[in-house]
Amino acid sequence: MTVPQIYMDYNATTPLNDAVKAAMIEDFAVYGNASSMHAAGREAHGRVEAARRAVADLIGGAPGEVVFTSGGSESNNTVFQTMRILASGPDGRALSAGRREFIISAIEHPCVLNSAAFLQSLGFTVTTLPVDPFGKIALEDLRSALSDRTLLVSVMMANNEIGTIQDIPAIARLSKEAGAWIHTDAVQAAGKIPLAARDLGVDYLTLSAHKLYGPKGIGALWVRSGAPLKPLIHGGHQEDGLRAGTYNNIGILGFGHAAALACSQTQAYGKTIGALRDRLRRGFEEHIPNIKINGHPQDVLPNTLNVSFPGAEGEAILLSLDLAGIAVSTGSACASGSLDPSHVLLALGVEPELAHGSIRFSLGWGLTEEHVNYVIATLPPIIARLRAMSAV
Ligand SMILES: *Cc1c(COP(=O)(O)O)cnc(C)c1O
Repeated sequence: MTVPQIYMDYNATTPLNDAVKAAMIEDFAVYGNASSMHAAGREAHGRVEAARRAVADLIGGAPGEVVFTSGGSESNNTVFQTMRILASGPDGRALSAGRREFIISAIEHPCVLNSAAFLQSLGFTVTTLPVDPFGKIALEDLRSALSDRTLLVSVMMANNEIGTIQDIPAIARLSKEAGAWIHTDAVQAAGKIPLAARDLGVDYLTLSAHKLYGPKGIGALWVRSGAPLKPLIHGGHQEDGLRAGTYNNIGILGFGHAAALACSQTQAYGKTIGALRDRLRRGFEEHIPNIKINGHPQDVLPNTLNVSFPGAEGEAILLSLDLAGIAVSTGSACASGSLDPSHVLLALGVEPELAHGSIRFSLGWGLTEEHVNYVIATLPPIIARLRAMSAV
């Protein structure tokens, strides 16, 4: 029997959508430098600007507020480095005098955690907000952490490991009242739940194409018009001087196609993928005794299911599923390779040993009920076998 290939690791990355891929293959003919004035350049420029509009439409923003980057990590780094410059440069005196404190949540993506840690190593202060057992920060904690020293609040919209969705409008309101800049990493939220950047009340919002069926190595930062941004990469005047370097035509156009598709499918995604995820959860609950679901029961991405299996080891579960043709993850792709339990699960208060026995199932387009049924049938004997082994 050939092993079916069932990919349930969409929060790590998504396959390139077939229609996006087909459009990109045609886009490879667009070789002009989008900054050139001749016809080839104008052709590339027009297409880049159409892609910018599609990305802006996905989040209800204006095209002029979208800066293309190499991905979510660069977008997040750019926000933190902008703050560093505001705090120290000449316009820092006008924009953020005396403000040298950052507030983040304990469950941010490593590119936010480590951007903050780097600034801490330079003498800035970082306050890390705890989360409750469902992964939500408490607005009271944010309120007491905010002061006239706060430069930036950065709280992700939806978590990549457990799917918990934060109350970003309330977080933004409190942050603005304190005079701080507010950023949200919406990489996991975009295309999965409705997203209106301006209504959220944030100044900066991060996107990445490869989490929404687009190509890798391309992302964007939405910068509310009026919010400051400083380039990480200096050079030519691309992106209004905010991000130098010849336009990545193929990546940008691919992002545009993926964004347009995601925009038209967000509602269907919630219904279709949400139903598959719920089916998977019910199947596990019915067929595997003593499991624990991690994440918020309601405010959660429709595609994410994080489960702890007491008495079984995460890596062993992952490898057994892999042998059966099922791809899942323990924690985040960026943290795997380290033997430390997930910082997200630890922040929820999950015991380290239980965190080690946790698996993230993240679903997406292309999966069917049959795939889900196969996983429901495959996992229970694996867990039973591993538990029996660890009991010996
Ligand atoms: C994947 C991811 C990133 C990083 O995006 P890249 O484009 O891979 O750099 C940032 N934040 C979250 C929440 C992510 O899931």
